[in-house]
Amino acid sequence: MNPSMSLKIAHFYPDLLNLYGDRGNLITLMKRCEWRGITCTVQAVSLGQAFDASQYDLAFLGGGQDYEQNLLQDDFLSQKGQSIIDAVEDGFVFLCVCGGYQLMGRYYQETNGERIECLGALDIYTEAEEKRLIGDSVSESRHLSSAGYDPLLVGFENHAGRTYLGKQVQPLALVRKGGGNNGQDQTEGAIHNNTYCTYYHGSFLPKNPGMADLLIEKALKRRYKQFEQLMQLDCQMENNARNYLLSCK
Ligand code: GLN
Repeated sequence: MNPSMSLKIAHFYPDLLNLYGDRGNLITLMKRCEWRGITCTVQAVSLGQAFDASQYDLAFLGGGQDYEQNLLQDDFLSQKGQSIIDAVEDGFVFLCVCGGYQLMGRYYQETNGERIECLGALDIYTEAEEKRLIGDSVSESRHLSSAGYDPLLVGFENHAGRTYLGKQVQPLALVRKGGGNNGQDQTEGAIHNNTYCTYYHGSFLPKNPGMADLLIEKALKRRYKQFEQLMQLDCQMENNARNYLLSCK
């Protein structure tokens, strides 16, 4: 057990960025903490609410359609922007999925050419194309394997945006099946410091327990200097789901 520790999660715009069951990522983090005796709380941080990273250990941004991304853009940049940029550079732990991922970059250009200015917290940009990248996807992460976790990531993607990585970010993984960031360069997602981004909905973490534990571990290490490692959990059910998806051609 990892008793007497707690994890506080900020859930950005749960009412607006929550496509394809993204809330399942929060449920996974909460359960994987609960099963270890770690107290985990989730606080919504939505329109009009400031973000104080010192009150949290981890933050989650889910996916959204272009409409919602436009709707929250001003609040995201003006109300929360600088505190998020500072937290990213300070090694705060973020998980950003699809639309939430795109908003962390420099801009998101819609298919009509309109550009949504984004936060610029990550050295990425996104340009939407008419043909969406939709379907189950599998990718392989050296970052996860070097951290001692299963390198394979499985998920479901549905995005018009094509995201391109600058020199200051690393891909989260390399695509084995599916579109990934842009359907061209075989990259999927992005990593900068402890900010982890992916196009995988589905939701992402229930089928990728290693990724969930990596996020929990990174967040606890920042808060508890004496933290060593997480208690191992039985992942048979999660692996059954993964193995089914990995078996699909
Ligand atoms: N609206 C963005 C796109 O189409 C993000 C979609 C999403 O979050 N699934 O690329």
